[in-house]
Amino acid sequence: MKISEILKQDKVTLSFEVFPPKTNSTYESVAQATQEIAALHPDFMSVTYGAGGGTSEHTVHIASDLKTQYDVTVLAHLSCVSSTREQVALMLQQLRQHGIENVLALRGDIPEGGCVAHDYRYASELVREIKAQGDFCIGGACYPEGHVESVNKTEDILHLKEKVDAGCDFLTTQMFFDNNIFYNFLYRVREKGIQVPIIAGIMPITNAKQVERAIKMSGANMPERFRAIVDRFGNNPAAMKQAGVIYATEQVIDLIANGINHIHIYTMNKPEVAAGIQASLSEILK
Ligand code: FAD
Repeated sequence: MKISEILKQDKVTLSFEVFPPKTNSTYESVAQATQEIAALHPDFMSVTYGAGGGTSEHTVHIASDLKTQYDVTVLAHLSCVSSTREQVALMLQQLRQHGIENVLALRGDIPEGGCVAHDYRYASELVREIKAQGDFCIGGACYPEGHVESVNKTEDILHLKEKVDAGCDFLTTQMFFDNNIFYNFLYRVREKGIQVPIIAGIMPITNAKQVERAIKMSGANMPERFRAIVDRFGNNPAAMKQAGVIYATEQVIDLIANGINHIHIYTMNKPEVAAGIQASLSEILK
């Protein structure tokens, strides 16, 4: 099913993200985790893509297994900055062969030392190319706090508008830990005429080490309320996990209460995290 159709339904949607194994030896454990997450019957699942193309094969395999064995709607991520046009065409062909109808079209992070392939500079070029083929539902990434490379939020939103105009059917946000930042972003993008559905991306922080990584990767602001949780529970893995899941769940409840119907959880191959959040929302999701 196309995600654009799912997002048209008048209901709250919950989706989960998994990442493919980086090596063949971890394939089985990752496949097991993704199956357990699929068994929770989210509205869809997304499968990330290794920027250098290193795990690209596994993205297709995991996505295809989810679709054929568990009948889950799948969103396959595809980044372009390190790829040639031929590599992208091949990947799209494989996705099509496996019946995957949804692609999250990304630029990808520029590797240290620059990119080998130079066929694409921005995700909007990939979006336009996929759109021209006519058959995929296309998502794009957006950044409530501005993309880390952007000069300012205004410029970032102008480029986002270009990307949406190139053919995005929906957007998914980078993680954020303060919902007010998302509400403010939503106001600004709507004001600039971006009308596609925007899925709020929530990352449950379940261990102290993840905090620094998450801030570095996303540039996201970490509210004092969350810092206090990390200070108090950071050295107690079980307590930190519980508190992190509760914090993320509270963010989701606040979003839904404020009319945001589409929530994506960065579940990071952790079925227990996906299950914990889903269970806490059981009445809300009915
Ligand atoms: P773009 O939309 O191209 O934007 C990148 C930067 O270029 C921004 O600063 C933008 O303002 C600027 N820009 C855009 N157009 C122009 C223009 N015409 N002129 C000047 N500047 C311009 N990475 C992976 O490798 N694999 C994944 O699976 C993955 N999944 C992700 C999922 C989500 C929901 C998100 C939010 C990010 C994901 N990423 C993933 C990370 C993403 O690849 C990086 O954040 C990357 O740096 C930017 O990708 P983009 O598609 O947003 O790029």
